[in-house]
Amino acid sequence: MDFSPIVDNLKKREYTVSTFENNIDACEYLTKEINGFSVGFGGSMTLKELGLFDSLSSNNEVWWHGKGDQLKEYGSDFVIKKAMTTDIYITSANALTESGQIVNIDGRCNRISSTLYGHKKIYYIIGKNKIAPTLEKAIWRARNIAAPKNAQRLGINTPCAVKGDKCYDCSSPQRICRGFLVLERPPSGIEVEIVLINDSLGY
Ligand code: SF4
Repeated sequence: MDFSPIVDNLKKREYTVSTFENNIDACEYLTKEINGFSVGFGGSMTLKELGLFDSLSSNNEVWWHGKGDQLKEYGSDFVIKKAMTTDIYITSANALTESGQIVNIDGRCNRISSTLYGHKKIYYIIGKNKIAPTLEKAIWRARNIAAPKNAQRLGINTPCAVKGDKCYDCSSPQRICRGFLVLERPPSGIEVEIVLINDSLGY
């Protein structure tokens, strides 16, 4: 995929941008860049597929509630709060528009709130499958692809979790779609780098 138009649009919106052909190159780059920091991870299948937690953990203090042993030792509230106050925060997006808007849906909302304040730098790791031509299609993608597949993976009691096929706009107590964020530009005072990978990653 030719990322050039998206890269130009993201730069116009004041983002730092880097592009990679595959996971390995992206992971090597991030491991070199992030050294000696405290790092928080948002819930993300992309980060899991990248194997980034293990590569960063040797040179950084990394907090991620998706890591079973940390959960067991400290509990999810503690780990999420630690991740919200680190130097660096890393997450993915449910969708990215070609013009550079970042769309995310969240249940506990730790991920979307962590991308708005509290860190020196934020990285979004985004595979080509997350790119949508318009904001309308990006919102559709977040609601009808990302959220149902996450609900299915979590095995929760929502109608979308049965087949992971589409959003039913449920009123389930376990509904994972509670906060919805469209980021137009980096929050003031925070450097935000978009890492685009020419591969399909996460949901
Ligand atoms: S609103 Fe409910 S049905 Fe729709 S994706 Fe979210 S959890 Fe699933």
